Amino acid sequence: MMLALLLARAGVPVTVLEKHGDFLRDFRGDTVHPSTLQILQELDLLKKFEQLPQRHERLLSGLIAGHEQPVVDFSGLRPFDYLALVPQWDFLNLLADAGRRYQAFDLRMRHKATGLITENGRMVGVRVESPEGNHELRAALVVACDGRHSLMREAAGLPSKDYGAPMDVLWFRLPRAPHDPQGTFGIANDGRLMILLNRNDYWQTAFVVPKGSDAALRARPIDGLRDAVARLALFLSDRKDSIEGWDAVSTLAVQVDRLECWHRPGLLLIGDAAHAMSPIGGVGINLAIQDAVAAANALAAPLREGRRIDETLLASIQRRREFPVRVVQRVQLAIQNRIISRALEAGGGPPRIPWLLRLLLKFRVVRNRPAQLFGYGIRQEHVRTPCIDQAEVGVDQGVHDQS
Ligand SMILES: Cc1cc2nc3c(=O)[nH]c(=O)nc-3n(C[C@H](O)[C@H](O)[C@H](O)COP(=O)(O)OP(=O)(O)OC[C@H]3O[C@@H](n4cnc5c(N)ncnc54)[C@H](O)[C@@H]3O)c2cc1C
Repeated sequence: MMLALLLARAGVPVTVLEKHGDFLRDFRGDTVHPSTLQILQELDLLKKFEQLPQRHERLLSGLIAGHEQPVVDFSGLRPFDYLALVPQWDFLNLLADAGRRYQAFDLRMRHKATGLITENGRMVGVRVESPEGNHELRAALVVACDGRHSLMREAAGLPSKDYGAPMDVLWFRLPRAPHDPQGTFGIANDGRLMILLNRNDYWQTAFVVPKGSDAALRARPIDGLRDAVARLALFLSDRKDSIEGWDAVSTLAVQVDRLECWHRPGLLLIGDAAHAMSPIGGVGINLAIQDAVAAANALAAPLREGRRIDETLLASIQRRREFPVRVVQRVQLAIQNRIISRALEAGGGPPRIPWLLRLLLKFRVVRNRPAQLFGYGIRQEHVRTPCIDQAEVGVDQGVHDQS
């Protein structure tokens, strides 16, 4: 959506295919980091963004055996010193509405790309399944942003490297009470780990379980999960039954992978389609947006001028974005293997933080380091595309109306 907005704004006709009728899916990437806030500011969308329901977090802590340990601290970072928690559907609707202001922007909901059209070794479009029937859509360039289960990745036969993950995540809501702790924090004890994201009137809860254990858990009564939650966070005992059943629990099968090559002639992959991220640090949407900005910066001028997009240009986008993705994935893998795996060891008691690290974490400048890495990333992107097409059309035709 961000790439389409940037290209349409620069006068390049773009068609976005979205297979769903709306963006209303709970428990998706809701963590909008400073790098994304910066892009919104550059697009003059920050004020509109601030009107969305949201919560700002400056400090992320761990509650280990009852002891609170601040770990990630955004305060003091510039220009944005917080992480915004915003429902992803609101954020996507904002981008879609911003895109609709440009004549060159064409968002087609309930349109599923089902395959690539290849001619003389070049991808020249996609096959589309829609309520009006099946058809072909031709394009100067196909950009696959179809997420972690990318069909286009498969259709193009692009090999990826799977880095594995020791855990999956169960997401569910729990009501918040006025006397509950503030902030967003993780709790680890006795082989269990849970992250509580403060969403004002509810806790967005991530209950971390060993990889592949989801099916066995779901075969048992929901009481097992309710009791485990209450054992980890006593203050939630009075509300544990609000997890009504397994239907109220979504599973994120954690996946960390990266394509060796993000392109083919006429085709580029970005975001999760090119590199699925671990949920650690909540960087998924932010890296996808950085990819989109880098891609738009490289592609807007040649596409507008009708120049043929060759693979060298697509390779330069991968070169620019692969390094930041690689670094973040490496840090995520280290955290997964060294901290999360140990925290999930049954009967292991509360995980221990080495005394030296505990001492270092007393200093804000040390706590700022992970906030800087996850919040701003490496090789931060800026909007360099012009605003050419200013025609205002159908601003109010929200995606919500089409569902
Ligand atoms: C349960 C869960 C929780 C997460 N939590 C966080 C978090 O807190 N913070 C964070 O930063 N990230 C989080 N992520 C990851 C984050 O959602 C992704 O990294 C991010 O959304 C990637 O953006 P994307 O545009 O590459 O792909 P997606 O957001 O996955 O978008 C892909 C889009 O393409 C559509 N689509 C797929 N296939 C087709 C097709 N064939 N034709 C047409 N449309 C298609 C999909 O419907 C979807 O709208 C979470 C992911 C999950 C699943």
